[in-house]
Amino acid sequence: MLRKKTNGVARRPQRTSILSEAANASVDRRAFLRGSGLAIGGLAAIAATGGTVQQASAATAATGSVEIKKSICTHCSVGCTVVAEVSNGVWVGQEPGWDSPFNLGAHCAKGASVREHAHGERRLKYPMKKEGGEWKRISWEQAINEIGDGMMNIREESGPDSVYWLGSAKHSNEQAYLFRKFAAYWGTNNVDHQARICHSTTVAGVANTWGYGAMTNSYNDIHNSKAIFIIGGNPAEAHPVSLLHVLKAKEQNNAPLIVCDPRFTRTAAHADEYVRFRPGTDVALIWGILWHMFENGWEDKEFIRTRVWGMDQIKEEVAKWTPEEVERVTGTPGSQLKRVARTMANNRPGTVIWCMGGTQHTNGNNNTRAYCVLQLALGNMGASGGGTNIFRGHDNVQGATDLGVLSHTLPGYYGLSKGAWAHWARVWEEDAEWLGNQFATTTGADGKDKSLQNLTGIPVSRWIDGVLEDPENMDNPDKVRAMVLWGHAPNSQTRGPEMKTAMEKLDMLVVIDPFPTVSAVLHDRTDGCYLLPAATQFETYGSVTASNRSFQWREKIMDPLFESKTDHEIIGLFSKKFGFHDRIFRNIAIEEDGITPNVEDTLREINRGMWTIGYTGQSPERLKLHMANQHTFDRTTLQAIGGPADGDYYGLPWPCWGTAEMGHPGTPNLYDMSKPVSEGGLTFRARFGVERDGDNLLADGVYSVNSEIQDGYPEFTMQMLMDLGWDGDLTDEERASIEGVAGAKTNWKTDLSGGIQRVAIKHECAPFGNAKARAVVWTFPDPVPVHREPLYTPRRDLVADYPTYEDRKFYRLPTMYASIQKNDFSKDFPIILTSGRLVEYEGGGEETRSNPWLAELQQDMFVEINPRDANNLGIREGSQVWVEGPEGGKVKVMAMITERVGEGVAFMPFHFGGHYQGADLRDKYPDGADPYVLGESCNTAQTYGYDSVTQMQETKCTLCKISAA
Ligand code: SF4
Repeated sequence: MLRKKTNGVARRPQRTSILSEAANASVDRRAFLRGSGLAIGGLAAIAATGGTVQQASAATAATGSVEIKKSICTHCSVGCTVVAEVSNGVWVGQEPGWDSPFNLGAHCAKGASVREHAHGERRLKYPMKKEGGEWKRISWEQAINEIGDGMMNIREESGPDSVYWLGSAKHSNEQAYLFRKFAAYWGTNNVDHQARICHSTTVAGVANTWGYGAMTNSYNDIHNSKAIFIIGGNPAEAHPVSLLHVLKAKEQNNAPLIVCDPRFTRTAAHADEYVRFRPGTDVALIWGILWHMFENGWEDKEFIRTRVWGMDQIKEEVAKWTPEEVERVTGTPGSQLKRVARTMANNRPGTVIWCMGGTQHTNGNNNTRAYCVLQLALGNMGASGGGTNIFRGHDNVQGATDLGVLSHTLPGYYGLSKGAWAHWARVWEEDAEWLGNQFATTTGADGKDKSLQNLTGIPVSRWIDGVLEDPENMDNPDKVRAMVLWGHAPNSQTRGPEMKTAMEKLDMLVVIDPFPTVSAVLHDRTDGCYLLPAATQFETYGSVTASNRSFQWREKIMDPLFESKTDHEIIGLFSKKFGFHDRIFRNIAIEEDGITPNVEDTLREINRGMWTIGYTGQSPERLKLHMANQHTFDRTTLQAIGGPADGDYYGLPWPCWGTAEMGHPGTPNLYDMSKPVSEGGLTFRARFGVERDGDNLLADGVYSVNSEIQDGYPEFTMQMLMDLGWDGDLTDEERASIEGVAGAKTNWKTDLSGGIQRVAIKHECAPFGNAKARAVVWTFPDPVPVHREPLYTPRRDLVADYPTYEDRKFYRLPTMYASIQKNDFSKDFPIILTSGRLVEYEGGGEETRSNPWLAELQQDMFVEINPRDANNLGIREGSQVWVEGPEGGKVKVMAMITERVGEGVAFMPFHFGGHYQGADLRDKYPDGADPYVLGESCNTAQTYGYDSVTQMQETKCTLCKISAA
């Protein structure tokens, strides 16, 4: 299937860069990718150390007129700038952005080949539907009409909640916002996206600890770290260019790099200290480190006294985690954890980094909070070089999360309460009653009707249960009957066989993507399945939020290829079909086609409503200015030194308070009190009230620089401004606007004029107050994070001491815990199965496995097996094996025998798809749209298990058995 290109024809003979030399010397893909690998190993390092490699001149890159366009790589959250060379509307070449403070002229293999992603010959080219078992080309008009009519019928019969709108971290900010707004206008909260299954436990854990659910510092700020602690993350493969920043700190500051992971990853290969531990025991491991910290008095007592609530309760729990008990549970020697504790204590501020190895667990929210507590104990929060640097996965998963493509909130984390809907109805200038009437009602336990407008929807991790579960057991009025998978690869989700059944039971399955995902082939449907070609982000423009909360503005590189359409045009088409186009876009200009909402206007509407997290100061004009002047920003502080954006932080990392006119520079490091709020400083957010158990929850005698309130204080309201005598600072317009919301009760989040924020900041106070972080989240199932054994655990001896939760119902669905754990599967399924990413591919992998440059690098799905296990099982390197999970799903893959995994642990990457339980599904793809590389989805063998707060799926510790195929 995959053939090497061997014609040796240089496409751009005039190029002078190392990359072009690599490409020209031999145009076979492997050589090109070695060249882009060099960009990481060589160019990146050279760029970081001020070497002498020169930037290629785009003007010489091709003959004829060449236009230069800047975009952002779509394959991870680092946000690397792609400089595209466009000739006569054709994307002819690309360079990494040398001016970008994020990538400094570096790209990984994925970024280096994004042109092939956009130009991909394997893309969906026109709308199709399956009819009588065959894919048939149809027009967009027919597609929208048929799908729309089908949905209206379902709505009529079963209500709006029987159509599920699954969105994407691949949307731009504007598209993500419109998608969530569209679901609201359709009348459902059954809307979600990948953040649910990658960092929802982070967002919930972190936001409930100190206020906001995001990376606190930035990739660049790691330059200032004195120690780097990575747990459950493998950035060398998942966020390759981020290592440029990590290794700079390691080399420049002599910062020790500690990597905690059950698997010896490529990141661990760079570590000074590699800590191997049993999957699913993160809390025990962290408490094991903290045990030494408290035992030796290494914690930052003054920081805890003034800025943390609940550490005493943590200490009580930690006291149980003696080195012996930690070793019994995690397998990690106490002596090693003492060394780790001492290293972290002696090298402050250090940063803590985590990814999906920490989040994807039934108790993932406990893990993320334990990591936060570690940083609070060390006093590493609110400091440059410190913080929790949570690396997000997709390019815009931070933005899509912020913009509420989620079943439990509206944009800006406003939630779903009456007040939240009232706020957004005001922003949208919509009749709140009309909006409410779009939703169905259900009968509550008290026998009264209640609107589903205020009830969390089904999360993406459980959509299959929305189809399969008896409606009697659900809070959804009926089953999910139509599923829209828009920019979502279903093979990134667990319980593959049940997903196949669910897809087959639907009335209608709609897939909207640039490439056909596994949704096109997993099921045996013969009808009622539609494939709609979406444009990539390189065929449109708009903003994207990198992991560090900075916005970047993408320019359009080329027009949508074939018959593909941008996501916002498709939203426009559906809005027209459903009859609310005029309403939903009433304040957004429409392009000449009469369908497509204008991108800049959409961002301006976002700016008008997103006060909670400061998505208000990032106007299109400011973002374009930043992109045009990337070279003026410092590569460590991210602050512009002179130039037109002087003083701003690159991309105006949120919160960028007030209106754009107010000129706030953005907040580079959250909760950093060493700067005034007007210059990017911040306190912990007063989000959880002012008192708990008789204790003051506000900061104790500490405050950000120049604050006129020199102590802790609650969040700002109009009443508070009046009490302080600061309301006189409001303009007449601001005062009138506040009066129109809720008078004295209007707060910093609901004031549409921005006046309350402006006046608070005039007095150098944080609009959201100044409080302590809470180490104990009393609203969660485990207020103090505790260790709980996984549902599928091989350690039956620990279940009695560390049981999982009781079964419970939340997010509309019954959810099993104890009823699974009570069964011993470990005799038949003795090996722990975990999963993760590869450097060559991203997500479900359709895009990257369809990219010839990447596909060549990794052509086989595999399982890593420890040599002792392999020898005991009689398995040889490179042979085919079955990996079978306890719920019956099994995959046939190639064996890789390696000590990367410990004894009793197996690892599989999760990017493959297109094979199912030994069968090759290539024939089921539409002609010419099958990815080059197919393989088994590891999630076919992965099992049930969901976080107790967010319904995050468990993918990091289940059980399996492995046998020769
Ligand atoms: Fe940069 Fe990530 Fe793209 Fe690689 S995948 S080029 S690290 S944004």
